[in-house]
Amino acid sequence: MTAPNGSPVHDRPPLSNLAKVHQHLPRRPLWLCRACSGPWPCPFARMLLRVEYDRNRASLAVYMAGQLFDATGDFLKLYPDTGPNPEQLWARFLAWTAVKPG
Ligand SMILES: [Zn+2]
Repeated sequence: MTAPNGSPVHDRPPLSNLAKVHQHLPRRPLWLCRACSGPWPCPFARMLLRVEYDRNRASLAVYMAGQLFDATGDFLKLYPDTGPNPEQLWARFLAWTAVKPG
């Protein structure tokens, strides 16, 4: 399907029009999303980051490792007795950044 000007019509609007996506940023020190209050990175934030780092997943992983470092520090201050769960932190911040083989 094409628009009257001949360009393809997509089901979703251009990412630049999705203003709310850009509000899905972490609120520290709890690391909850500023827009949807879910654990950051929420699904919207992950989608935006994947698009932003489309051609450079290694850089995405490095960026998220930095976020993980900051979050770990915040969680250690918030919960000094129990600390953060390493497996949960890994899944939340890094696991989804991996490039699928094949
Ligand atoms: Zn969000």
